[in-house]
Amino acid sequence: MSPPPSPATEHSINNDLEGNLRGIRSRIRACCGKYGRDPDSVRLVAVGKQHPAERIAALAALGQRDFGENYLQEAGRKMDWCHDQAPGAANDLAWHFIGHVQSRKCRDIAERFHWVHTVDSVKVATRLNQHRGDRRLNVLIQVNIDDEPTKSGVRVDQVQDLADMVSTLSNLHLRGLMIIPRARDTFAQQREAFARCRQLQDSLIREGLALDELSMGMTADMEAAIAEGATMVRIGTALFGPRPPSA
Ligand SMILES: *Cc1c(COP(=O)(O)O)cnc(C)c1O
Repeated sequence: MSPPPSPATEHSINNDLEGNLRGIRSRIRACCGKYGRDPDSVRLVAVGKQHPAERIAALAALGQRDFGENYLQEAGRKMDWCHDQAPGAANDLAWHFIGHVQSRKCRDIAERFHWVHTVDSVKVATRLNQHRGDRRLNVLIQVNIDDEPTKSGVRVDQVQDLADMVSTLSNLHLRGLMIIPRARDTFAQQREAFARCRQLQDSLIREGLALDELSMGMTADMEAAIAEGATMVRIGTALFGPRPPSA
């Protein structure tokens, strides 16, 4: 049983988001300081799945620019809402697709998003490339780093082949790798998975690919990911609060 919704005015929504945003930014800064990294080298991607468009727009009004979404239809509604609310400001937002890419959705994803973090097959890459217009779409390859049967992503031993192929597609710009490791109990264990992803990226770079982004780290493991070189952290819960149960 969930408690009745509190009477949230727009004002209190904004306050709450503002505090959360400030909190996350200071955690990122502190963590970068601790691990000797430039705080500007970590981009905060706000993950809004299951949260209403009003909250995305409120966060955008507070200066947040990068937004991650898992579902195309839901994302489209939010993009339209942000555009209707503040057409000028909406043009500055960067939308990141972070959900599983179904090939029949590739056209809309390629047309509406600025980044796709979850390319995991030749078929998806080919279709995104085919439907993307003139400006190259930034993409990352999702790696199934813990080899979990239930998770999307390419196997570690298939990453090089897929990366080589994606890098030949003229409408895509391959930027790096993305992972969602399984949950781990300790900070050291969290770091171990992120370190393997960074090493994999380093080996692709040695093979000649110009990669500059690592999408890793969520609310529960953000610090470990930053310690291992994440350039994009995808944060939902710590910004928006717990997700409402899906219908
Ligand atoms: C939901 C989601 C996130 C955000 O997770 P939180 O734990 O709420 O921060 C990040 N990445 C992906 C791929 C997600 O699906």
